[in-house]
Amino acid sequence: MELEKDIPRVQDHKLAAAATTASSSASIEADMLTCPLCLNLVCQPITVPCGHTFCRVCLYMAMQRSKKKCPNCRAVCHVEPASHAVNVMLAQIAQKCFPKQYEQRLLESKQEQEKFESTSPIFFYNNCLFPGCLLHLHLFEQRYRHMINRCVSSNRKFIYLPNFTDYKAKTGDVGLLAYIDECEFLPDGRALLKATIQKRVKVEPRLHEKQQTTNQTRSH
Ligand SMILES: [Zn+2]
Ligand SMILES: [Zn+2]
Repeated sequence: MELEKDIPRVQDHKLAAAATTASSSASIEADMLTCPLCLNLVCQPITVPCGHTFCRVCLYMAMQRSKKKCPNCRAVCHVEPASHAVNVMLAQIAQKCFPKQYEQRLLESKQEQEKFESTSPIFFYNNCLFPGCLLHLHLFEQRYRHMINRCVSSNRKFIYLPNFTDYKAKTGDVGLLAYIDECEFLPDGRALLKATIQKRVKVEPRLHEKQQTTNQTRSH
């Protein structure tokens, strides 16, 4: 395929040698198991309907930017990377042939995912919310509209923190991670959004964008 030819491949002959066993006639080379997005050993591989395979975390991040499209060939792709099944056979091959690298990639993937999720804007709320709650917000102030615009075009996530009197977010606080399911921008710039509270997260305020309060937003 034309597209595949253009993808740079990682050549690592040491890895290839390590994968060759005395009894096998064919060897698995590292570049056969390379994710086209990070160019590393594929980790928790997900194969999408067009046949391309990516690390779960790479696909997850790529699909935040271009939803419903394969990041390699742009074919329509209705896959939810967070819950999609791993290509078990490929994962086993990668893990068996390159155990140390695979372990390292698992660690890196976890860190990448956490870093990605931790750079979300913070909003404050006054109502009682739990993971699983649905939010309907009507954002009409310019500053929130800008933030939501950035959210929607990046990872579609923001963090909610309780809004107590004189409360300031600090490292280690527990907030709620909300995922924007739908966002409609009205012609006058207002935004109507539906979001789901996904889980509790520990926050690192210095990693986040300037904190905003949702006092001026309506939740119904
Ligand atoms: Zn990858
Ligand atoms: Zn594809």
